[in-house]
Amino acid sequence: MIARLEGVTKAYPGGVIALDDVSLEVEKGELLAIVGPSGSGKSTMLHILGTLDRPTSGRVRLDGQDVDTLPDRALSELRATRIGFVFQQFHLTTGASALDNVADGLLYAGVPLGRRRARALEALDQVGLGRRVRHRPHELSGGERQRVAIARAAVRRPVLLLADEPTGNLDSAAGAGVLALLRELNASGTTIVVITHDLEIAHALPRQVRMRDGRMLP
Ligand code: ADP
Repeated sequence: MIARLEGVTKAYPGGVIALDDVSLEVEKGELLAIVGPSGSGKSTMLHILGTLDRPTSGRVRLDGQDVDTLPDRALSELRATRIGFVFQQFHLTTGASALDNVADGLLYAGVPLGRRRARALEALDQVGLGRRVRHRPHELSGGERQRVAIARAAVRRPVLLLADEPTGNLDSAAGAGVLALLRELNASGTTIVVITHDLEIAHALPRQVRMRDGRMLP
């Protein structure tokens, strides 16, 4: 088991219950879709799974550790070394090459620069961008940018990769390419959770968790 939410509730000031008593287990090697309409609590769930946010109540376990009792510093370290994030908006550094963007994924893991670049090259090769490593984000297509973002997340070999609407900004061909890449990464052993509002994408993945109004549907 890689991650477990147990009776997790998240209330925001003003009385919004973004997550209402949610329990979920993510097993090692899974490729899981969390699917639901806008406002159903998907991003909140991803933030809590990724330790970017703490629940109001309930328990969170990640990679064998009780997240609830970890102090903030240990939590940051767990996040930096164990979890990879991919966002709809790519979040790449604009002035930096694809290579440097990916190598930066290893900054907090304490890997020396030469090793960072070597591993970044390898990761870019894996996502099919071995010949684009000097390109900066504005010189790449949307699909290529998302591949760089995936390489940056994958380069640290995270135990859990969390993707928030990873195809949301892409046309359908580029989106299909990104999904195929996530499947490949999963086949080579990475546990992946994908958030999507798109039922078609969710049904293309092996397991779906459906969300509505902060609750998990059976
Ligand atoms: P989704 O990702 O499915 O669109 P979210 O998790 O972003 O859903 O939001 C769930 C609910 O929580 C929504 O009603 C949203 O408006 C509310 N919400 C999310 N973030 C905050 C916040 N920081 N403060 C107050 N309410 C929030």
